[in-house]
Amino acid sequence: MLGHDTALDEALKSLGLTHFMPPAPKPGGMIHVFQMLEARARGRLAGLSDDYAAPGGVDFGFAEHREFNAFAQRSSRDVICIYSATVRTMWSLCNAVMTIREVFPWIDDIDRLGENSAPPPKGELFFVREENHASEEIEPIRRKLAAAIFDVAMDFALMHEVGHLWNGHVDLLHQEGGPLPFPEMRLIEANGFNLAEAQALEFDADSFAIQKVFARAYRENQFKEFSEGLLKDHRLPLDGEHTASWFFTWFAVYAFFRLFDEACAAANIEQRPQPPAALRQACLLSTVAAVSARQGWSSLAMPHWATLATDAGLEAERAICRLRRSGVNANAFLAAWEGPAFDQIEIYLQTWDALGPRLAPFKRGAMAAKSDAPPALIS
Ligand SMILES: [Zn+2]
Repeated sequence: MLGHDTALDEALKSLGLTHFMPPAPKPGGMIHVFQMLEARARGRLAGLSDDYAAPGGVDFGFAEHREFNAFAQRSSRDVICIYSATVRTMWSLCNAVMTIREVFPWIDDIDRLGENSAPPPKGELFFVREENHASEEIEPIRRKLAAAIFDVAMDFALMHEVGHLWNGHVDLLHQEGGPLPFPEMRLIEANGFNLAEAQALEFDADSFAIQKVFARAYRENQFKEFSEGLLKDHRLPLDGEHTASWFFTWFAVYAFFRLFDEACAAANIEQRPQPPAALRQACLLSTVAAVSARQGWSSLAMPHWATLATDAGLEAERAICRLRRSGVNANAFLAAWEGPAFDQIEIYLQTWDALGPRLAPFKRGAMAAKSDAPPALIS
């Protein structure tokens, strides 16, 4: 299907990176997570536009690198690349979260799984396993939820890169800073954008991605089967059969932001265009509330969306802190939802006055989505 001389390989070469190839399947129907993700990403991109559905319309693949990073590039075709560490870290986190019994204890409910399929000793939070019976095994239902959360997180990552391509960010970078790809980490170091401009571009890509991800959650309602259990231990604003999908979509997106924060801290990046996870999530609240009202996906009002998003974000924050053996600062998380989000959006909008006209010639109107919401909220 693909030759060796692809646009992806050229982009990787320009950054001194190696193409990471998904490991081959194992006998017995076992495929590697990278292979599953690559197939899904290609299918998802083809479903977005006729241009991407055409042969050679878009190139997707992985770079072998230890950063939680990704890039978008445009040369002979559009290129999207996700670094291998992003996939490994996200997959590991989603599965590790499921080993914490206090997170979603309802999953192992006997009511839910039935007497035969729910293993009682493992399903009870307050029973401990004897040391000589230690087991790493987790139930399929937890793996299923982990895989579904991972899928949404990686879909957000993919759609964020599409946002950089479709909203003209990559073209503007080429005009101002040269032909290199548009990276997630180290954007400021790599080119001529100032911090406020880079922040506005990241917010635009996030805004694009969150609409695509929620459009898909509305369409596919991937978490519907978890609704009953979720609502046993979460008091959430109800929204017909979509409540669980809204909740877990926010959960996945917050977890993705949080891992990105960790990676930036580990890499000692001082100036970064994405705000910290809680603020980054809070800035997207009005986008989700507006697009779901406009598209008729939901009857929830803004305060309900805020409750859903903060509940899901805090759940993810608690789980990550638990895994990292650090304390949760719920007040710091919630503080981002008050003034700072509005201040941050105000900065985006002010910057947009000058940035918007520079992006306008590069907007790809012909590549608007086939069925989803309009690509950008702000334009
Ligand atoms: Zn970005």
